Amino acid sequence: MKKFATVDGNEAVAHVAYRTNEVMCIYPITPSSPMAEWCDQWSADGLRNIWGSIPQVIEMQSEGGAAGAVHGTLQTGAVATTFTASQGLLLMIPNMFKIAGELLPTVFHVSARTVATHALSIFGDHSDVMATRSTGFALLSSASVQEAHDFALIAQAATYESRVPFVHFFDGFRTSHEVQKIEMLTEDQMRALINEERIREHRERALSPERPKLRGSAQNPDHFFQARERCNPFYLACPDITQKVMDQFAELTGRRYNLFDYVGAPDAEYVIVLMGSGCETAHETVEYLNQHGYKVGVVKVRLYRPFDVERFVKSLPPTVKAIAALDRTKEPGSEGEPLYLDVSNAIQQAVQKGFAPWQTPPKVYGGRYGLSSKEFTPAMVKAVFDNLASENPKDHFTVGIHDDVTHTSLEYDPNFSIEPDDVIRAVFYGLGSDGTVGANKNSIKIIGEETDNYAQGYFVYDSRKSGSMTISHLRFGPRPIRSTYLISKANFVACHQPVFLERYNVVKSLVPGGTFLLNSPYGPDEVWDHLPRPIQEELVRKKARFFVIDATRVARETGMGGRINTIMQTCFFALAGILPKERAIEEIKKAIRKTYGRKGEDIVQKNINAVDQALANLHEVKVPDQVTSTKDFRPPLDPRAPEYVQNVLGAIVVGRGDDLPVSAFEPDGTFPTATTRYEKRNLALEIPVWDPKICIQCLKCVAICPHACLRAKVYEPSQLEKAPEGFRNAPARHPDWKGMMMTIQVSPEDCTGCTLCVDVCPMKNRQQPDKKALNMEPATPIHDREVEYWEFFETIPDLDRRRIRVDQLRQQQVMRPLFEFSGACAGCGETPYIKMLTQLFGDRAIIANATGCSSIYGGNLPTTPYSVNSEGRGPSWANSLFEDNAEFGLGFRLSLDKQKEIAADLLRELAPQLGDDFVKELLESPQTNEAEIYAQRERVAALKEKLAKIDHPAAKRLLPIADVLVRKSVWIVGGDGWAYDIGYGGLDHV
Ligand code: SF4
Repeated sequence: MKKFATVDGNEAVAHVAYRTNEVMCIYPITPSSPMAEWCDQWSADGLRNIWGSIPQVIEMQSEGGAAGAVHGTLQTGAVATTFTASQGLLLMIPNMFKIAGELLPTVFHVSARTVATHALSIFGDHSDVMATRSTGFALLSSASVQEAHDFALIAQAATYESRVPFVHFFDGFRTSHEVQKIEMLTEDQMRALINEERIREHRERALSPERPKLRGSAQNPDHFFQARERCNPFYLACPDITQKVMDQFAELTGRRYNLFDYVGAPDAEYVIVLMGSGCETAHETVEYLNQHGYKVGVVKVRLYRPFDVERFVKSLPPTVKAIAALDRTKEPGSEGEPLYLDVSNAIQQAVQKGFAPWQTPPKVYGGRYGLSSKEFTPAMVKAVFDNLASENPKDHFTVGIHDDVTHTSLEYDPNFSIEPDDVIRAVFYGLGSDGTVGANKNSIKIIGEETDNYAQGYFVYDSRKSGSMTISHLRFGPRPIRSTYLISKANFVACHQPVFLERYNVVKSLVPGGTFLLNSPYGPDEVWDHLPRPIQEELVRKKARFFVIDATRVARETGMGGRINTIMQTCFFALAGILPKERAIEEIKKAIRKTYGRKGEDIVQKNINAVDQALANLHEVKVPDQVTSTKDFRPPLDPRAPEYVQNVLGAIVVGRGDDLPVSAFEPDGTFPTATTRYEKRNLALEIPVWDPKICIQCLKCVAICPHACLRAKVYEPSQLEKAPEGFRNAPARHPDWKGMMMTIQVSPEDCTGCTLCVDVCPMKNRQQPDKKALNMEPATPIHDREVEYWEFFETIPDLDRRRIRVDQLRQQQVMRPLFEFSGACAGCGETPYIKMLTQLFGDRAIIANATGCSSIYGGNLPTTPYSVNSEGRGPSWANSLFEDNAEFGLGFRLSLDKQKEIAADLLRELAPQLGDDFVKELLESPQTNEAEIYAQRERVAALKEKLAKIDHPAAKRLLPIADVLVRKSVWIVGGDGWAYDIGYGGLDHV
């Protein structure tokens, strides 16, 4: 009997890899980590593989270590695997050459991800896999969750048959994190496909003192070359072997694959060739286009290395006139991307060697698509075919972007859609960590496993930490779902957070007559009047069905706190009609028991109660015929932001980054800093309000604020002359600041509501024991007033840094932070330290940041938190790699020290023109406190003025590096937020 399961690509692969291996050497990297995590968990749970043993899982210190350990296990006869992506795969390359060179059978499962270039990206393309082409690993590409599951087994069987090690790869996120209902392989099928005799042979070849031998020798020019060619028969045999395994697989499962699978018209004139998840989109688009008068086809490349030229040529229809070879990677400076070059070569080989079926060989055009998980849609597939059919097809084109610099891009119609009517398509807008994604995964499981429907779920996350939007895309239909792209025509849209309505057109994708579900504090009679005009317009025009529920209140009243997920999920089932309502409710309750059973009966009951209350509080809203609202969307960023920030970063903030042309970006990946201050995310439901009468001005609250939203300023009383009414202030208590005033103020639109400031406040209000010197209050009623206070607060000048003692928290914390409003999680424990470092040294800091949490909250677009002071100075920041920030930072230090040395030499050379005393002061300034640094900055400013007037080659060389004479602070910040200062013999003057 067929067994179906609803799993994502990572689990589908891990399911097979775990059962068909004995040792897993792992190191986590997004998006491959869940494969290793599943194996680790199963091993800990004592789950056995198909041979009855519990696989050993070992986490290494890096991907290089994982590959080295796999290499060792293979050499000594175990059946071993690993999982990785992106830079992780690149770190494995030296061992991959060795493993392949020694013909050691293994499978590396790779959720293919972009390799960092001008920027890091955790999303998917083939740039990592393509970098392994020369290692000697076979490269097997799967295009869907089902294929990833199947190919994990095919690769495992083929590597043992061929002795060629395999990379089995599938698209990061699009396949690794897409949830699909798939047919699961049984352990009997796995045992039947893997030839144990080959494993016995592998063990016999292993290193053993019982039969001593030597591998990994050093060879000289007289014999290395010949010995290197000795592996050829294995590579020549590998395609046939892999095809044979695929044929055996088909007999076992009924699912047939070939090294190159053609789909389309037998007499197609235009053909796309590609790999990975884009094959699925091309497949369904080809079928649609052929029903509408086209003659087109697609070749899905399965075994990319070794590339079987004859099989590839035979897979093409003899009628083909033009081919588009689409690569999901970019090789700057090449004559074309890898697949394009292979396809071109195959056509040429077919002609040269006489097995070409065509009188006139087809023309081959190369194109790039889908870098970093850029959408690849039917509209883009159609554009590629239309290009092939045009009089002068564009070559080396791009599709999916607007290239207004080198004009490579194809035009496409974004409204072209082939979504079939019998597929239910639902889109959910949630907040990171509000449980929306988890609930939707549950819904897919319920529908996938309890009905005959096929189900697909894909989840779009912002790579910032919590507090940002997640969009879930769910499809349910009677056939396997090949739509590997986001939903642009939805029958059902749910908005789980009313705040999104202020900025995003969440109903843009809703089809006419579709259903819109909103979580809102306003009831069915009031909610319409609170909608922005563009939302009302869409709902009226589309004659939408509109439902509202105050899920936040229901969650609160049923003891669920802020978790509205179960309530919104219940409403979805009640409205979507995929299952009868009663059955759906029963299944949700079953899922609740399964998910929360381990957490105790109380949690289970609360969730079940929330389900019951959800339906009682769900109301239909009658959509009027007329638009009544005059309220527009809030601008994406503060209107005071500079033009570039508004136009480019603002577009990314509101989800229109896809519309930005190539020219919007600097060619070297440079962006301005200090841009989070313009985003104003308004996340907090409650914000802290200061009570100056109770406060002792310890400033612990300011120090702990992870987002630098709570600030203190000390200032002259005269600054209050233009203060808005009620602006809170008190005489500064510290004796050094006698006669001055102090204010502690929150930025209400940047606060995340984490409450840490209130938690840390030591001062109780004796008159009201439940109050402190700082108290959380509901944000909405005081929002406008606090915004006014904050804006005034910002106009108050910072206290002269020379008047601040850095060894006392209650003084030091009035220093302006140059790290503010980051995308870190609410209540983050790392960022207060980084913030403090920026207060102390940020105006002269350069940061070498490792990849990790700190590089995401520190440098993830659209807006970034490293900021500037009133003179425009602030940290400069860069991220190199996960593993090299110490070396990267050392490079900064070496560079600055060298330039300082050069500057000193030039100063001495120019002493006659500059004056000996002036040069001496510049060279000998100790710069160990703010006053000395201030004085040195003054000197350097004077120096620059003088240099500009001196006509001497040394002056021209000194001017651009003169700033290095002011002491610089170089930091290496670890991925998890630790920071060191490099230079001057150790830590800066902390
Ligand atoms: Fe005042 Fe409390 Fe903040 Fe200390 S922690 S400065 S007492 S509000």
